[in-house]
Amino acid sequence: SNRIETLEFQAEARQLLQLMVHSIYSDKDVFLRELISNASDALDKARLESLVDGDLDLDTSDLHIAIEVDREKRTLTVRDNGIGMSRDDVVSLIGTIAKSGTAELLRKLRESKEATPANELIGQFGVGFYATFMVADTVTLLTRRAGQTGGTRWESAGEGTYVIETVDDAPQGTSVTVHLKPVDDEDHLFDYTDERKIREIVKRYSDFIAWPIRMAVETTGEDGATSTDVQTLNSMKALWARPRNEVDKVEYHELYRHLSHDWTDPLEIIHMKGEGVFEYEALLFLPAHAPFDLFTQGARRGIQLYVKRVFIMDDCQALMPNYLRFVKGVVDAHDLSLNISREILQRDRQIQLVRRRLVKKVLSTLSTLQENDAERYRTFWKEFGSVIKEGLLDDADNQESILDLLSLASTHDAAEPTTLRQYVERMKDGQSDIYYMTGESRSLVENSPHIEAFQARGYEVLILTDPVDEVWVERVARYDGRALQSIAKGQVDLGGEEEEQSTDAEREQREQDFSALLSWMAESLREEVREVRLSTRLTTSPACVVGDTHDMTPTLEKMYRAMGQ
Ligand code: ADP
Ligand code: MG
Repeated sequence: SNRIETLEFQAEARQLLQLMVHSIYSDKDVFLRELISNASDALDKARLESLVDGDLDLDTSDLHIAIEVDREKRTLTVRDNGIGMSRDDVVSLIGTIAKSGTAELLRKLRESKEATPANELIGQFGVGFYATFMVADTVTLLTRRAGQTGGTRWESAGEGTYVIETVDDAPQGTSVTVHLKPVDDEDHLFDYTDERKIREIVKRYSDFIAWPIRMAVETTGEDGATSTDVQTLNSMKALWARPRNEVDKVEYHELYRHLSHDWTDPLEIIHMKGEGVFEYEALLFLPAHAPFDLFTQGARRGIQLYVKRVFIMDDCQALMPNYLRFVKGVVDAHDLSLNISREILQRDRQIQLVRRRLVKKVLSTLSTLQENDAERYRTFWKEFGSVIKEGLLDDADNQESILDLLSLASTHDAAEPTTLRQYVERMKDGQSDIYYMTGESRSLVENSPHIEAFQARGYEVLILTDPVDEVWVERVARYDGRALQSIAKGQVDLGGEEEEQSTDAEREQREQDFSALLSWMAESLREEVREVRLSTRLTTSPACVVGDTHDMTPTLEKMYRAMGQ
């Protein structure tokens, strides 16, 4: 039955399309990159499925991508002979956006007026297929899922609805035909039927795609006669498999862009090779900016797994711990089975070994950056510091290295953060603990009565205002053999001069002098506090409230409450 239906895009998809059709997005070229990337994914999947299921009716003899243009009709078609889609696939994959963070993206897009942040946001999010509507009047998609007989034809102008139809006959894979909007552009800068334009985009964005991207081009022979010949536009070189000194920065950056959809260049590039029992190549990137969904549960992460150049999976969590989820890159492992599952990966001893090496390498790269380029490290820390701190909770093996990466505010210098190492080097004679105070803001901490005595005695206090600080200081407890001591909790022995000077007798006398006041206060505040005592901590404030050593701090209490615990 050739059912023809007109269906509505899901609400969020509609909003996103609206933004594409009335494009706020300046770099329209990327629509082609998106189509090629989808085609490449479809070919990866076809290859993988044929290896997993040998009985599948799937021709893998010449997997490739073809670009076809019709200058008269003003169409551009990207065709692949990959996995294809069923009718249901088309409805769910093209008609809706299933990704988390869509609402967030749309909100940010509406708020941002400038073209650049929109570019970055769209880039990060990867609107993918919908990008075609920046340049298209209508888009037609014809597809057949490998192993199925019937095909599906889909067409839309991007305005709310699409038409979907079952067709008897369609070649294996998918072709997307973009009916281009008219352009009045003499330079052909935006003419996507222009061969040079297409070449340029493919080279820029898709050169390392592992499948041939072919196009028929007119050539003029020596005799002046023109003929058509099919050319492959991309080099297909897998960067990570090449020796480091043969890859230049621009190439690295292109791959990074492809993996991350991030428009800015990465902060650091890590290219490594593991030899021996378990061979692998890894090419990792540390981004310069945090993605908007860094703290979104279930957001896509950055490591792709390949096995001998065959794409296996995105978002390979087995290879990178959660606190390094911002690291993007490719790991190509040579000795894994192609149909390995995520569950098995998590338990695979060799994968765990690779992961340990990758983590060590990322941490040591950060440490080098911290030593050699304070400015860039500052950028890094601003974007990812909070996430790195999560490592203090999850990664006991690397606790020492992570502690050394911390960059913390302190009373020592209002403008310059400090490392724990630097703090320890500045510790006063006789100071045994590392003092810190957590709070919502620097000024709240600085103006808190707790800090007075420490300041008066010239002790440095770390000012920890990041919510996650509450958690790791509890967990870590020590750095370099010294206790991390909250100045807002329990009795802190300052060992100050006054205390040493006042004799036991004097202290007793003072307790007696104030005992009436203390018991009156204790009685009046019975519901609120456990104990009222004299303190030598304060210099100008008359009183302050201290938590018990094991109490939760106010911020932590708030955090747990917010998490519904
Ligand atoms: P993304 O590629 O980030 O998932 P897209 O909007 O580019 O998002 O594509 C949405 C989905 O549609 C893809 O994940 C894929 O499942 C499907 N799709 C798109 N193009 C193709 C294609 N050429 N062949 C097979 N499936 C495709
Ligand atoms: Mg895509």
